[in-house]
Amino acid sequence: MKNGSILVTGGAGYIGSHVVLQLRARGERVVVLDDLSRGFRQAVLDAPLVVGRVGDRAAVAEVLREHAVDTVMHFAAYTIVPESVSEPLKYYGNNTCSTRTLLECCVEAKVAHFVFSSTAAVYGIPAEGVASESTPTAPINPYGTSKLMSEWMLASVAQATPLRYAALRYFNVAGSDSGGRVGQATPNATLLIKVACEVAVGKRPHLSIFGTDYPTGDGTGVRDYIHVEDLATAHLDALTYLRGGGASTILNVGYGHGYSVREVIDSVQRVTGRPIRVKEEPRRPGDPPALVARAERIRRELGWKPRLDDLDTIVRTAYAWEQRLQREPW
Ligand code: UDP
Repeated sequence: MKNGSILVTGGAGYIGSHVVLQLRARGERVVVLDDLSRGFRQAVLDAPLVVGRVGDRAAVAEVLREHAVDTVMHFAAYTIVPESVSEPLKYYGNNTCSTRTLLECCVEAKVAHFVFSSTAAVYGIPAEGVASESTPTAPINPYGTSKLMSEWMLASVAQATPLRYAALRYFNVAGSDSGGRVGQATPNATLLIKVACEVAVGKRPHLSIFGTDYPTGDGTGVRDYIHVEDLATAHLDALTYLRGGGASTILNVGYGHGYSVREVIDSVQRVTGRPIRVKEEPRRPGDPPALVARAERIRRELGWKPRLDDLDTIVRTAYAWEQRLQREPW
């Protein structure tokens, strides 16, 4: 049977745009739904773009019908932890309530497969800073809670209907397309590697280190940084798995080892040859000390094989992208 189209919500955003490129390279039919509130029209290089909101029932129903969609990959969301702490209802509205509407449309349209963009933030502060998929979920910020509630809805829908899903819990995504076509263009970025690269290209005067008194090796926060292209490949692997009849599943996407903020800064200095001025500041609300994946399950269940598991490679692509943005702002 011929495969249907894939709806990529948030396909004009950072991660979604990388996934669209890989799907198209594999010859998939793709349609993007994005309200462009955080995404960029020019990030959608090779697929039709419908400008609209995931929470707009009529718009979603029409896209599903018109494009004969049988698979949804759902990226559209707000994703900034500190912002979720100060504006929680924005996160529950755009992330949780909109996902409910999307799921309702998917059930009505008999969408068969759903790949959900979840997050390691569902784990909160796991023991030893390491989380496997069976680690209890206990988010410590509204961003994590908003995504966890979506996972719960998915689980219930998958019980009650034929829809099957893969929820991918991302650790810290960074880097950009090795072909330099797309990357992270968020204004007022808050993610560490992006911010450090902005300092390296001279867009910011310094980098703040949020917290130097964590119970970690050097006192700064530790995260499992994963290259966006490896993350994108995980979505294609999830699609293959679901099409092959795989059961609904929840999977960590990380490399299984972490770096501290200071180690990331060292890498940025090494790769760019630029000194990064730092300011030590208090801890940021909502931040766990360490968060690293147990990441065996995705290799086992999906056969996922990361190719870019190297901090300097991640930083090199992030920096190349930042240099491009300096030359031609998006
Ligand atoms: N961080 C930092 N300075 C920054 C941005 C982040 O020290 O300008 C730290 C943050 O406290 C955390 C780590 O870097 O320990 C990763 O934070 P990021 O915002 O990149 O991702 P998160 O883990 O919050 O999703």
